[in-house]
Amino acid sequence: MDKQHAISAEDALRRLLEGNERFLRGEAHAHTPTRQALEDLSQGQHPFATILGCSDSRVPPEWIFDAEPGDLFVVRVAGNVLSAEVAGSLQYAGMHLQTPLLVVLGHEGCGAIQAAMETKERGTRQLSRIQLLVDSILPALDGLDPALSPPARLAQAVENNVRWTLRSILDSPEGRMRQADGRVKLVGAIYEIRTGRVRLLDH
Ligand SMILES: [Zn+2]
Repeated sequence: MDKQHAISAEDALRRLLEGNERFLRGEAHAHTPTRQALEDLSQGQHPFATILGCSDSRVPPEWIFDAEPGDLFVVRVAGNVLSAEVAGSLQYAGMHLQTPLLVVLGHEGCGAIQAAMETKERGTRQLSRIQLLVDSILPALDGLDPALSPPARLAQAVENNVRWTLRSILDSPEGRMRQADGRVKLVGAIYEIRTGRVRLLDH
């Protein structure tokens, strides 16, 4: 069996969550690869999961999942939004690296989502390129509960944005194909800045 097929999506998810548990307990052991590990990595990469996360400096996937070089294929962009370039990177991970698991990882207190909410609710305009980014988040913000407090509404928006990104991936021809043949599992998750815990979303 090829190395990249050696782990199921369920095992990949369990491995991520176990890494987050070590991170929470202060028992992380990654980040210092041995010479042998570096030698092995020079032969190629076989990451067991793909992570689409936010660029926010507080949410480095390798740290919060206690993962080593070679473990994770990571795409980070403010607001964990899907663009053509991001979709291309995800497709590469899926088709060529055959990672069995794709996690869209949002986080508490996301500034990109906050900016999108300010545009939606108060008409605030951002600098041109930031506005492009914000515009790609706006469709995810329909249906927010106006009765919620601002912090609770931001938390709801962060979750909605993760679900929106997941749906956009699923709706692509490649996403539909890979779901249909069971080759990949897509999961949404939220990183809790305050606690360090990764919480999975139900769909
Ligand atoms: Zn963010």
